[in-house]
This record gives sequence, structure tokens and C-alpha cells, in this order.
Amino acid sequence: MKQTVTDKPVFSRRHRLSSPFQKSLSSRLSFKSKPVTLFQAKVASVYESPGFFLGLEPIPGAIEAMQEMIHMQNTEVFICTSPLTKYEHCILEKYSWVEKYLGPKFVERLILTRDKTVVSADLLVDDKDTIKGAEPKPSWEHILFTCCHNKHLELQTPRRRLQSWADDWRGIVESKRRSNVEKECYASLTANGN
Ligand SMILES: [Mg+2]
Repeated sequence: MKQTVTDKPVFSRRHRLSSPFQKSLSSRLSFKSKPVTLFQAKVASVYESPGFFLGLEPIPGAIEAMQEMIHMQNTEVFICTSPLTKYEHCILEKYSWVEKYLGPKFVERLILTRDKTVVSADLLVDDKDTIKGAEPKPSWEHILFTCCHNKHLELQTPRRRLQSWADDWRGIVESKRRSNVEKECYASLTANGN
């Protein structure tokens, strides 16, 4: 297995953003675009402010899963995360966050990109339901990490979920490893004319 890429040990935004503004969102939605824009600006002012990313708590079990995964044989783990376009605090704080919770070795495993489709990997664990970019057929299989904003979605076969870091992520890694081995065997048999 080449790589396992995840952005979901990382930044648990939901707790910070949902509660303080939920009421104002529902009351303003009926006023169409302008109030929603104001709401979005208000939310942005929270996550663009200094200390927002560094203050986020790790998702339960994520740090332990990362530490275990990085020691698995024939497995490379990277953290692929998208910086905000207003990046002043976000980028520095994402690096600091990773160093604080995972240590300096993981800092070397950070990939910051607004387009995850161009990153090569076997698996991508991510809570975003649809990941699009310049590459129409990314190399990775997207494992949807369950979150408040995606839990209602019904995935089409063969898409898979990881409900939490207590869920069977090891099984997903192993099944991917097996399927890669099978593909390699098939490819070498075909190349040898069998
Ligand atoms: Mg994300």
C-alpha cells in the first residue's frame, strides 16, 4: 500500500460552529440571500480569527489511530488538509496543531492543498461528501468520515463510511491492501500472457 491519507484525525469544526449561530441561521434563512451572506460572514470571522484552528480539540480516538497507523508495515500515512483562501492564521495553526498533538514527525506528513484529487493515495478519509478537482478519477478511494453534516446521506455502493475512529478503520486498510495485492497479481498474470 502506498499511502493512506486522512484529514479527519484533525479539525473538529462542528462543535464550534453549530451551536452559537444555529438560532440566527434558522431565523434568517427566510430572508433569502442577504441575511445568509451576513451569517456566512459572521461564521467566517470566527474560523478566520487567530487561535481558531489551534484551539480545536482532536476527534476522539483520532490521535491513537494515527499513531497506530503510522507504525503499520507497508503503510504510509499523510494528513491532507485544505487551507482557507484567507490563509493567514489557518496554515501556521494547522502546522502547529499537528506538531502539538502528533509530534514533529507528522509535520513532515502534512499536505496542504485546495485540490485533493491531485494527491496520489489508496485511501482518503474525509468528512466532505463529494470531493472534486482537476483530476476526474482520483487514485484514492474516498472513505466518508461520518459527521453531523453528512450522517443523513445514503451512500451509493461501493462507497464506504467510517463512523468514527472507534469504527473498523483497520478492516478498511486491510481490505484495500488485499484488493491491491489481487490487482497486482492479476496484472502480472495478464502481462505474462496467462
Ligand atoms: Mg474537511
